[in-house]
Amino acid sequence: MLFSFRRRESAPEPESLNEAEFERIRERGDFFRLAARAAVDHLRRFVLDLNETGGERMQARLLELGETLGTEERLRRLQSAWESGSEAIAAFAERQKACLRDRETELKQIIDILTRAMAAVDLENRDYNRSLLEQGKRLENLTHLDDIKKVKAAVLQESFQLREAVREKEARDQRRIESLSRQVETLRRELETVRREAECDALTGILNRRAFDRALSDWVSRSTARPQEFCLVLVDIDDFKNVNDTYGHLAGDRILCTVARKCAQGLGEEDLLARFGGEEFAILLGGTSLRAGMKRAARICGAVATARYVLEESPAEPGIRLSVSAGVAAWRAGDTASALIERADRALYRAKTTGKNRAVSEKEIQAG
Ligand code: GH3
Ligand code: MG
Ligand code: MG
Repeated sequence: MLFSFRRRESAPEPESLNEAEFERIRERGDFFRLAARAAVDHLRRFVLDLNETGGERMQARLLELGETLGTEERLRRLQSAWESGSEAIAAFAERQKACLRDRETELKQIIDILTRAMAAVDLENRDYNRSLLEQGKRLENLTHLDDIKKVKAAVLQESFQLREAVREKEARDQRRIESLSRQVETLRRELETVRREAECDALTGILNRRAFDRALSDWVSRSTARPQEFCLVLVDIDDFKNVNDTYGHLAGDRILCTVARKCAQGLGEEDLLARFGGEEFAILLGGTSLRAGMKRAARICGAVATARYVLEESPAEPGIRLSVSAGVAAWRAGDTASALIERADRALYRAKTTGKNRAVSEKEIQAG
């Protein structure tokens, strides 16, 4: 209760009032009545329109009380209106204070959670984190402002700046992502080139020994898992040392490339050609029996032998004659890569020792 009338039950009745005194008392009474009404009106302005406190009901109650204080003539009615009104005002003031305190605490917590969550989004970006945390602190300080309108305006301003900061960061991140994806794409292409180069023979451009070994091991595993015939043909240029000795190493290099191209002719999608070493090539013929493999090896020998290798240095010359020898072996169940190479190599050796410029099958070795 803010204050209450003290009833003067036993106050002596005025014996007589002259007109002037009566007039003064009446004027004072009118003044207090107006002042009380105005005070109640002012009080209404402190009532915030919050659902939780019943602000709207309090507004109506104060309006009614002001009205009563301004117009009611009967003292008892005035006293009872004021007493119940003042109790309601005191209770409402407590409710409103508690509600504002709760809101302030909640606001602080929300701001804290938000700023920490945003700061956690990108731990790398220290400057941005610091600016967010500072902004959060400023927001927190705002909750100490007394006037709720000032708080509102300031929070609006700060949240605008916060949004701007987030937008700027998004744009920065976007630029970084774009630049990183460009770098990733360049690296991917470079990796692809390096991988291709790592599998290629620098001189002839065909697969190198490493790629061949990997491929043969794959072919053997595949055929072991699900039997499928294939042949290995080892090709070696005959008397190549003489070529180098006669025409020079560079001419020998070019001839090596031409022989590689001759070997590649007639190979299908399933087949594979690689440089096995020095002047030797390895060919894998997919889905091919030993018999069919022999035919194709003989065809390669024929193609190399019938060609003439014209040298850049002496284009008018009729061209060099060249030949290759080949050893052919077919995959058998239980074969390993090295066993298959071994048999093809022995067949090749037989081709070399039996006149060169020919293909020999592993079968010939077994026969004797
Ligand atoms: P064979 O008929 O018995 O195979 O005789 P060959 O002379 O071909 O064999 P040999 O093993 O005696 O010599 C191989 C030659 O191949 C010697 C080597 O200089 C040459 N050679 C190996 N790799 C290259 C290369 O990359 N470029 C050139 N120009 N020559 C090479
Ligand atoms: Mg040779
Ligand atoms: Mg050789």
